[in-house]
Amino acid sequence: MGAYRLLEVALKAGALAGLGLAIGAASGPGPVPGEAAKVSRADFAAADGAPGDPAALNRLLAALPQVTFDDNGTTRHFYVWEGDMLLDREDVAGMIFARHAREGPARAGELLLQLRDDGQPGVWSRTARSISYAIDCSTFPSAGECAETTQAMATATHDWEAVCPSCQVKFHRVNATPGIKPGNGGAPTFVVRYNPDAADYIAISFFANDPAYKRYLLVTHDYFTSDFSKAGVLRHELGHVLGYRHEHNRAPGGCVFEDNRWKPLTPYDPHSVMHYFCGGGGTMTLALTDSDRAGHRTAYKL
Ligand SMILES: [Zn+2]
Repeated sequence: MGAYRLLEVALKAGALAGLGLAIGAASGPGPVPGEAAKVSRADFAAADGAPGDPAALNRLLAALPQVTFDDNGTTRHFYVWEGDMLLDREDVAGMIFARHAREGPARAGELLLQLRDDGQPGVWSRTARSISYAIDCSTFPSAGECAETTQAMATATHDWEAVCPSCQVKFHRVNATPGIKPGNGGAPTFVVRYNPDAADYIAISFFANDPAYKRYLLVTHDYFTSDFSKAGVLRHELGHVLGYRHEHNRAPGGCVFEDNRWKPLTPYDPHSVMHYFCGGGGTMTLALTDSDRAGHRTAYKL
């Protein structure tokens, strides 16, 4: 099973239910009206009922939206899972296995911390908390939209930094040249781009400890037209960048179970910045709640 996960927000403009797809909850409720369900329940059920069957997996993959990244000449394909996560083929297969391997209901937790494959917390280490980013305005439809994104990034990064100055997480914006790529050494830690080929999502990001070629934060056309707070969407995406999973992984009915690769930091709170609009939770502002702040301090105190 691959080690990497990329996540995105599939919050639909103006809709009370935000999940862009409705594949995961095979035993849960059906698609919410207004959703763009591209994966049928039958596709999912076939793959879910036959873990390890490549034909069933292929049918499921063929129905999923895809996103590609150029990695120095190598095109890397990812599938949009649950309108929420970008996974490669192995990840999707692993996710299906994980659904079957999962244990009983986990303890409710609000801010959920991503775990690496080795079971260690997926946070930025003390020596890697100076996180640089570039915004590649050449990819945006207009200078105005890039400026709007730049402003929202400034707000969102400040909001996370302000939770816990002693945690020493600092985001620095650096100058971008067209086509700039994330990297190590002199390159920015991650790059913000506009993705014109969006499939049912507003924004998408990556996790702490992901390799450089995955470290993009992408915004789409819907980012500029949705009713969600623009800084709020980026606060949510930066939550993933900091290592946090979706709050609704532990939500009551109406949300989608993803997997068990996380540990709870705080009690469940449906207003978390990491909660989708589902199961009676979620907000349009995607603000940091007191629980989000407490969980972040816990995760980054070391
Ligand atoms: Zn997300």
